[in-house]
Amino acid sequence: MTKYVYDFDEGDAGMKKLLGGKGSNLAEMTRLGLPVPPGFTITTEACNHYTAHGEYPPGLQEEIDEHLRRLEERMGKKLGDKRDPLLVSVRSGAAISMPGMMDTVLNLGLNDESVKGLAEQTGDERFAYDAYRRFIQMFADIVMGVERSLFEERISKRKEQRGVTQDVELTADDWKELVEEFKAIVREKAGRDFPSDPREQLDLAIRAVFRSWNNPRAITYRKQYDIPDDLGTAVNVQTMVFGNKGEDSATGVCFTRDPSTGEKRRFGEYLVNAQGEDVVAGIRTPNSLDRLAEEMPELYEQLTQVMDKLEKHYRDMQDIEFTIEQKKLYMLQTRTGKRTAAAALKIAVDMVEEGLITKEEAVARVQPDQLDQLLHPRLDPDAQYDVIARGLPASPGAAVGEVVFDADTAEVRGSRGEKVILVRWETTPDDIHGIIAAQGVLTSHGGMTSHAAVVARGMGKPCICGAEAIKINQAERIFEVNGLVVREGDTITIDGTSGKVILGEVKLIEPKVDVNLEKILSWASEIRRLGVRTNADTPEDAKRARDFGAEGIGLCRIEHMLIGEDRLPIVRRMILAETEEAREEALMELEPLLRRDFERILEIMDGLPVTIRLLDPPLHEFLPNLVDLRVELERLKHVPGEREEYEAKERLLARVRAESEANPMLGLRGCRVGCTMGGVTEAQVRAIIKAACDLKKQGKDPRVEIMVPLVAFRKELEIEREKIIRVAEGVKEAMEVDLDYLVGTMIELPRAALTADQIGEIADFFSFGTNDLTQTTLGFSRDDAEAKFLPVYLEEGILTDNPFQTLDLEGVGKLVRMACELSREVNPKIKLGICGEHGGDPRSIRFCHEVGLDYVSCSPFRVPVAILAAAHAALGDVQDATK
Ligand code: PEP
Ligand code: MG
Repeated sequence: MTKYVYDFDEGDAGMKKLLGGKGSNLAEMTRLGLPVPPGFTITTEACNHYTAHGEYPPGLQEEIDEHLRRLEERMGKKLGDKRDPLLVSVRSGAAISMPGMMDTVLNLGLNDESVKGLAEQTGDERFAYDAYRRFIQMFADIVMGVERSLFEERISKRKEQRGVTQDVELTADDWKELVEEFKAIVREKAGRDFPSDPREQLDLAIRAVFRSWNNPRAITYRKQYDIPDDLGTAVNVQTMVFGNKGEDSATGVCFTRDPSTGEKRRFGEYLVNAQGEDVVAGIRTPNSLDRLAEEMPELYEQLTQVMDKLEKHYRDMQDIEFTIEQKKLYMLQTRTGKRTAAAALKIAVDMVEEGLITKEEAVARVQPDQLDQLLHPRLDPDAQYDVIARGLPASPGAAVGEVVFDADTAEVRGSRGEKVILVRWETTPDDIHGIIAAQGVLTSHGGMTSHAAVVARGMGKPCICGAEAIKINQAERIFEVNGLVVREGDTITIDGTSGKVILGEVKLIEPKVDVNLEKILSWASEIRRLGVRTNADTPEDAKRARDFGAEGIGLCRIEHMLIGEDRLPIVRRMILAETEEAREEALMELEPLLRRDFERILEIMDGLPVTIRLLDPPLHEFLPNLVDLRVELERLKHVPGEREEYEAKERLLARVRAESEANPMLGLRGCRVGCTMGGVTEAQVRAIIKAACDLKKQGKDPRVEIMVPLVAFRKELEIEREKIIRVAEGVKEAMEVDLDYLVGTMIELPRAALTADQIGEIADFFSFGTNDLTQTTLGFSRDDAEAKFLPVYLEEGILTDNPFQTLDLEGVGKLVRMACELSREVNPKIKLGICGEHGGDPRSIRFCHEVGLDYVSCSPFRVPVAILAAAHAALGDVQDATK
């Protein structure tokens, strides 16, 4: 018989998959002898059965009864007892933490009878009825689907009647009456009475938590973080303890290190006389943990001891929930704390230096995608700006965008590529899709551990919380701050590092690599096997990439050097030349310009390989637009005295028309240009080799690799290679310089991959151009697919990932693997790399590692990400330690 229920003293931290993160850690803390209120966990397997069949698995009901009976015995209290009732919480807890995404019910077990027992036992009628109404509110919302705001409205009304502003100012009688009103709301809205039988309450709550695994926000969250849908959630049934039993009670959340900066200092927030969810939900703005040292020194001491013990035990930064009930400390949760990228780096480095973890573990704990955060912009320190409000610096980085006041608008506008800042009183898990789409989040309420803060930090989005001066008027879609009115659509800048809210757009500047990142990257480099190069075609990009640790250039696209104002007219003359002489003349003009560019780039990359690719794109990209030309001609027709220009434009139009193609991406481009247009390849090679020889003469060490694009046939490469070598050797001889260089090709057409054994024989290297290879293998236009059908394909599950971002392993990957094997068979020394966008994508990098590529090449900002991802790939199946 499958066991579906485990007491906290039956499990341990290793049972995460079965008991969920919360359940397995409660068990572990129980094992460590920490003060955990007793309870039991219903497994994720039970949830999965419920999800599949809509009912409990056989035997679960009896197991729950048995564990409940044991719990009652142990506590000396019974659920629903008239004199001294046992109250429990029912909480979700998946194997991978999904903060606030699923449901929780507190104070379960209260009804009209047991509430009296609670009042008697505690001698506090107000407390008892407050607990009861909270229970009804939560249960009605989560289990019975009654709108939460209906209850909140009644509370607000009652406070108004009483002339008070705080919940704590309402009396026992107020709550008593509110309980009756709440029950009436439930009757009306749910069409049944609030269930008074505690066993039925428990049963309904467990089922609701099971169901919450598939609520829309949980599904969105899983999608965002690539969490499998079939994990299921466990359900924890735990004895209630109360942080709202007076001034000697409190509830809080703490981290063993600062989750924003990673500093080794305890960090946390708590509220005196409050119940669990109040801190996380940001209902009141909490105190910092340091205050606890003054307010309750003994408990602070105890808590810090527990914090230290947990961090040592788990060997990682912990995010801990605690409650103090009348001077007694209870631990309600511990988990590995989510952290910003900066904090992840600092904590990992510090823990290695403290001897707590190994370098490999440190590297494994920093997620490659997280590094993106560090590469986020910050405010230009020289910029002048007006700070209109300040809030808590909840997630670092700066962002500029137009104000929007709800998640749906943020989603709509964000998906159109518009930059928006989501401004909310506070966010709830229902706002997740808006947070994903926004540049940043600003809330007027809530603390550093509020929902918005936790979620934004995880995503690396700038976030400011608790900017209380901001008064949002949701209905009018404005916010007011000190007399200033900001409307939806107005631009603001937020700085999540300092908490500043600024009106208008502030210039942002790019970040630099810090010492911790440098250390992690250097450890990662000791571990990784894959080389990491960059795609760069300007000296600035080359410099930045080298600073980030790039070990050369894997793709320098010549075409990007041809679009400057001083070059484009020459390129056009070259393309449209009607005679060989005219073309040669244009090429002669281009050559020295390119030579200077190459010299600068090769100098920056001195001693490292630089792969320069010969002209690749469809030629029409350099020509004037046909439609524009026609319009211009029409205009000139009516202008007297412009006859000559008119005729020139007419000739141009005829040439452009002649050059235009129905499918330019499949047309005259890549090596086809070199093979059919005399002199084009030669001029480029002369510029490259002359630049390298110049540097060589200055004592430098240029390492040139010349790459032929869009090869499909061995013969194409043969022709181009022969030309390249002939020209290069000629230049070397004329300049009297000895220079080594390589000649290779892109593999970006399926035919090239399929015949890699033929092509590989005459190539020093292959670089997989997976952008074109994806386009041509899938038959998806790389320029159109993402705007047209791809979103629907992803939505409908026809594809699980965008194949232009993450390599399609089954199709394109198979070709890559085949080409690697075929080419190595005939040419064991061949160097293999990738320079499509996938070269910066961690999952694709893992594949590149597995098939044995020599290097990946990616954009400069992705270089640190790729270095880390390459190390993760080498470490094997590294678990995401921060999840
Ligand atoms: C590719 O096709 O993957 C590639 C790197 O070349 P480009 O994007 O310039 O076509
Ligand atoms: Mg290409």
